[in-house]
Amino acid sequence: NRKVVLREYISRAPMEGDMLLVDGGAVPLRVPEGAAGPAVLVKNLYLSCDPYMRGRMRDNPNSYIPPFKPGSVIEGLGVARVVDSTHPGFSAGDIVSGMTGWEEYSLIQKPEQLNKIQQSDIPLSYHLRLLGMPGFTAYAGFYELCSPKKGEFVFVSAASGAVGQIIGQLAKLHGCYVVGSAGTNQKVELLKDKFGFDAAFNYQEEPDLTAALKRYFPEGIDIYFENVGGSMLDAVLVNMRVHGRIAVCGMVSQHGMTDPVGIHNLYFLVPKRIRMQGFTQSDYINLFPQFVDDMSKHYRDGKIVYVEDMSIGLENAPAAFVGLFSGKNVGKQVVCVSQE
Ligand code: NDP
Repeated sequence: NRKVVLREYISRAPMEGDMLLVDGGAVPLRVPEGAAGPAVLVKNLYLSCDPYMRGRMRDNPNSYIPPFKPGSVIEGLGVARVVDSTHPGFSAGDIVSGMTGWEEYSLIQKPEQLNKIQQSDIPLSYHLRLLGMPGFTAYAGFYELCSPKKGEFVFVSAASGAVGQIIGQLAKLHGCYVVGSAGTNQKVELLKDKFGFDAAFNYQEEPDLTAALKRYFPEGIDIYFENVGGSMLDAVLVNMRVHGRIAVCGMVSQHGMTDPVGIHNLYFLVPKRIRMQGFTQSDYINLFPQFVDDMSKHYRDGKIVYVEDMSIGLENAPAAFVGLFSGKNVGKQVVCVSQE
C-alpha cells in the first residue's frame, strides 16, 4: 500500500522533496478486527490537490484545520471505492467522496464524513471539482457573498483554476460582464474560448495592474472574486465602483509568506462603501444538496463546462501539488490513483 507522507513541517513554498512516497506494507483486504468503532476500507481512485493543503504543512496549531503530522500520510479530498465496511451505511462496491489519504488504500475511521456517490453519466472525478469542493466554493461564494445583479461588472483572479472557472461561468449565466486574469496566454485563451469570459488578460505581462484593470473596466468593478491577494487586490481596490463587493475566497500569492505584500489602498473601502468579506465554503454546507442539483442540471444542459488537469499515478501527486503554486495546473488539479 504505497503512501505519500509529509517529511517535515515547512514554512516556505512546498517542494516535491517535502513529500515522500513510501511503501506502507501489504494491501489491506478488510477493516481490521478491533478497529475503534465502525470503519470503512476504501481503494482511492482520484485525489484532489488544493491550495489550502499548503497551510497544513506548517506547524500551526491555531489554524482552522489541523496540520498534517510529519511521517504520516497526507490527507485530502478524494473519490474512492469501498472495499470493506463495518459501518451500516456503506458496503463493498459503493463509490464515495470525502477526506481520505494520499495512498492506495485508506482506512476511514470517521465514515460519517463520507458521501455516497450515485453513479450517473457524470464522470467520477467531477465529484472532486464541478460537483465537489471547488464547485461548491464558487456557488456559495457567488450567490451568498457577491449579491450579483444582471449587467454588473465582475472580475475573477486565478480565473482558469478550479474555483475561478466556475465563478466566471456562473456570473455569465447570471447576465454579468466577466473578465478574468490568469498567468499564461494559454489560460487566457481558455477563459475566452472555453469558459465564455467576455475578456481575459495575462497578469504576468501587465507591468501596471491598476492601469490594466482600468482598461478592462472603464466603468469600474462591481464584484471582485478574490483568489490571489497581494498586488492584484491593491489594484482592484482602486478600480472598484461605489457599493462594490469583494468576496475573499483565498489569497494564493500570500500563502506561507513571512512578509506578505503590503496593501496600500484599503482606504478605498470607505469612500466607495465596498463590502469585503472572507468566507469558507463549509459555512454554507446546508446549501450543498441544492448546489449538486443546480450544478448537475447546468452540466447536463451544457451551460457549464469544466477543465481538469489530471496527473496519473500516486507517485506524481507531490509534483502535481507543488505545481499549483507556480500555476503549472491548467484547470482543476486531480491525481488519478486508479480507475477501478
Ligand atoms: P487553482 O486551481 O486556481 O490553482 C492555483 C492557481 O493560483 C494557479 O494555477 C495559479 O494560476 C494561481 N497562483 C499560484 N500562485 C500564484 C501567485 N503567487 N500569484 C497569483 N496567482 C497565483 O486553485 P483553486 O481554484 O483550488 O483555489 C483558488 C483560491 O481559492 C485559492 O486561494 C484557495 O486557497 C481558495 N479556496 C478557498 C476556499 C474557501 O472555502 N474559502 C475553498 C477552495 C479554494 P495562474 O497561472 O493563473 O497564476
